[in-house]
Amino acid sequence: MSTSSKCAHTPCQCPAAPGSKYCSTFCEDSKDLTTLECDCGHTGCAGQKL
Ligand SMILES: [Zn+2]
Ligand SMILES: [Zn+2]
Repeated sequence: MSTSSKCAHTPCQCPAAPGSKYCSTFCEDSKDLTTLECDCGHTGCAGQKL
């Protein structure tokens, strides 16, 4: 089984990068921000609304 997990930034839909809890530095920097959508820019994630 894969050990990959979802990005720890709650609204983000991306898989986390290897060795990181986040898919990108954007999400890591945004972890303390209250936001309902992710703007990391990854295909299939940017503008994602729950
Ligand atoms: Zn994202
Ligand atoms: Zn992310």
